[in-house]
Amino acid sequence: MKKVVKFGGSSLASAEQFKKVGNIIHQDESRRYVVPSAPGKRFAADTKVTDMLYGCYAAAEEGEDFSEKLAEIRERYQEIIDGLNLDFSLDKDFEVIRSEFERKAGRDYAASRGEFLNGKIMAAYLGYQFVDAAEIVRFNDDGSFNDEVTNELMSERLSQLEHAVVPGFYGAKADGTVVTFSRGGSDVSGSLVALAVGADLYENWTDVSGFLIADPRIVKNPKAIETITYKELRELSYMGASVLHEDAIFPVRKAGIPINIRNTNAPQDKGTLIVEGTCRQPRYTITGIAGTDGFASITIEKAMMNSEVGFCRKVLQVFEENNVSIEHMPSGIDTMTIFVNKDAFEEREQKILADIHKAVNPDHIELESNLALIAVVGRGMRSTRGTAGRIFSALAHAHINVKMIDQGSSELNIIIGVRHEDFKNAIRALYEIFVLTQI
Ligand code: ASP
Repeated sequence: MKKVVKFGGSSLASAEQFKKVGNIIHQDESRRYVVPSAPGKRFAADTKVTDMLYGCYAAAEEGEDFSEKLAEIRERYQEIIDGLNLDFSLDKDFEVIRSEFERKAGRDYAASRGEFLNGKIMAAYLGYQFVDAAEIVRFNDDGSFNDEVTNELMSERLSQLEHAVVPGFYGAKADGTVVTFSRGGSDVSGSLVALAVGADLYENWTDVSGFLIADPRIVKNPKAIETITYKELRELSYMGASVLHEDAIFPVRKAGIPINIRNTNAPQDKGTLIVEGTCRQPRYTITGIAGTDGFASITIEKAMMNSEVGFCRKVLQVFEENNVSIEHMPSGIDTMTIFVNKDAFEEREQKILADIHKAVNPDHIELESNLALIAVVGRGMRSTRGTAGRIFSALAHAHINVKMIDQGSSELNIIIGVRHEDFKNAIRALYEIFVLTQI
């Protein structure tokens, strides 16, 4: 059994957190490859080391004196080293970083040092081999990620090591120039390592006990999702639920390696298992509820629309030409409604309306803004009658008017449009009917 374990910033923010991580790793021999993030926040108002590095490098780029900023970063690491009683020094590394900042080695290089240094400490603490991600994560000259070369380099290198620490978030071009993934990218690194070593499981340790059924800022103490499929996860992430970097899914999904989201602060919790497919019946009919605010709808009416060939295409073309992405498109016989991101639409509003008039000569166009979309997602809906009925009766009881309904043909999700004012209550009502009152 081989596991890759990735630890997020809050799991590595202090010596105390490092100790928890050490215990987790030592508890299971199969946790052989470790991918750390940079130290994150120790408390709510704290600053992540990655952000400190961006700030420090910005000062260096401006030609300002950045000594103090660099010293603060160093202090963060020293605190961890001292707290762990390690006989280990980052003196030389900080000398190199200082001179690289002076020669303006790049923003990505700067940010990557967060993981690089944390990886070195982690390797010293665990007694594992440190492998610089710049040597095994490859980016192309144009800055795009090269998955094939990365997989070759990684598999070759890591197959020779029983245990290793590979810092997350960055890699390098063939000439050695450091490039980072987008923010939160250590999740991606972990996934790449899992693929390269052929892991049985990719454990992603963070500060929550997995994906929650609903947003904890809206629903009080929501339960965690035990098992979720990649497809369900995609639906929920699209609607704003986020724990994992989106690009982290592809490498492991391709290889059929499950991801387990775990909580460093509550290692006894099983967390959420993300899988390609499963026979396990979900505990509730639904797997999760997620929603986003900030949509606008454009309803176009025209008598005999249904018999006018090419009507939809002409309308859609208007949005395409104005570079506005369409989120949903429910339609009636003589009406069609387009849901779009409100901010993106507002910028081009009058131009789009004029273009629609020109393209299809409608009888009437109605606009509505401040709408929210809520996705009720679950593989269990396919085999359960009455899900839609329960959704609408729950919303009716909560006095919420449903503006739009869209059920995906996979029967994996039902999307509901409601007014902004009803958004949170709608999510609470849905959670209540599907989770709290379900036996
Ligand atoms: N440290 C980086 C960030 O803050 C990457 C990561 O933590 O995954 O975005």
